[in-house]
Amino acid sequence: MFQSLSDRLSGVLDKLTRRGSLTDSDVSEAMREVRRALLEADVALDVVKDFTEKVKAKAIGQDVVKSVTPGQMVVKIVHDELVAMLGSTAEPIDLNATPPVAILMVGLQGSGKTTTTAKIGYRLKTRFKKKALMASLDTRRPAAQEQLRVLGEQTEIDTLPIVAGQTPLQIAKRALEAARLGGYDAVLLDTAGRVTIDEELMDEVAEVRGVTQPHEVLLVADSLTGQDAVNTAKAFDGRIGISGIVLTRADGDGRGGAALSMRAVTGKPIKLLGVGEKWDALEDFHPERVAGRILGMGDVVSLVEKAAQTIDAEKAKSIAQKMRKGAFDLEDLADQLKQMQKLGGMGGLMGMLPGMGKIKSQLADANIDDKIIKRQHAIITSMTPKERRNPKILDGKRKRRIAAGSGTKVEDVNRLIKMHRQMADMMKAMGKKGMMGRMLGGMG
Ligand code: GDP
Repeated sequence: MFQSLSDRLSGVLDKLTRRGSLTDSDVSEAMREVRRALLEADVALDVVKDFTEKVKAKAIGQDVVKSVTPGQMVVKIVHDELVAMLGSTAEPIDLNATPPVAILMVGLQGSGKTTTTAKIGYRLKTRFKKKALMASLDTRRPAAQEQLRVLGEQTEIDTLPIVAGQTPLQIAKRALEAARLGGYDAVLLDTAGRVTIDEELMDEVAEVRGVTQPHEVLLVADSLTGQDAVNTAKAFDGRIGISGIVLTRADGDGRGGAALSMRAVTGKPIKLLGVGEKWDALEDFHPERVAGRILGMGDVVSLVEKAAQTIDAEKAKSIAQKMRKGAFDLEDLADQLKQMQKLGGMGGLMGMLPGMGKIKSQLADANIDDKIIKRQHAIITSMTPKERRNPKILDGKRKRRIAAGSGTKVEDVNRLIKMHRQMADMMKAMGKKGMMGRMLGGMG
């Protein structure tokens, strides 16, 4: 689905990586080409704008880590933003509810809804060893219920017996009841589709949703229809509320715009991709993997990641040595603060420690962590290198200047100096006992 976009993007980025140095205008020119490529792939304009602006902001004036070129850094930035645009993490179908877990399938006619219903049933059976009951609520298209029954027979998945003359709501209730009594793990409800969105369809689906309280509401959309698929998703979400999207015909020659804009426009995750007509032609949607497939520059991305890790490890080592010698100056503290910010501030750091979730959310509520880190960083940046190495030389006048330069108060400057002194003293004491070395050794 992403072939032509992939060719275009890798062409633009490949040129960048082969240069020794990059100017801001090189980056801007490359972003113009990236923008054109995305628009031609039918990605929504707002999404494209947002994407290229974010990449540009990060790429211009970036810190280039040792052993990679600026161009390689740009590739990594583009990659990361692409992953973010696609939703960051994979969000598979959620079955964590009391069985039978109800999954409501919605979408326009011809999107692949009925086929996808059977594919999901098949996947639940083969991959998760779960027993599903399928029911078609489409009373309008005469052959619809029969179509699902045949699919059920072919995939060996049970379908709700057809009772002529029932309304969609009656069928839905009967399906839930049958699934409960039959000990099914899941019940898949395939609703009626229309060629276009109309009020009657929405009313019907909304009513079914209200009564059945499904755990998942999956919108099935045809990726070949590009932005129309995105608009359909938006309309269904606004009216019914959806929990995720299945994008079908990803095996076709769509331009990829639907997949790329879906998350950003609707805020809802793409959960699955339909990649063919067979029962098993259904894939989990992994933003990392899809971004990798689009850029086709996985080696560059992992090179930059490795280089960044090496730099961090080298820095940590040299700081540990300084700590042991009691020579931990404000320059090092600034480095530490920067690292903390990279890890998502205090909140990010604490989130990595077990049992810290609650404190983390309190910190986040108060929104104190990142602000303080930023402020402290600003104070240190306003000092001269000499002052950073030896804060003792700071007098009242300089402190006032530094406070003004960093947009803080003299008390803040004093507090930072005191904190640093306490840290340095503590580290020195610990270093003598060899504790710090052991601690940091364990960290590296
Ligand atoms: P519905 O009207 O939304 O229920 O659509 P159907 O499930 O009847 O599907 C319409 C057609 O699309 C059928 O021929 C399916 O085999 C085909 N189809 C569904 N999903 C995919 C897919 O992911 N890839 C391809 N190539 N065809 C698909």
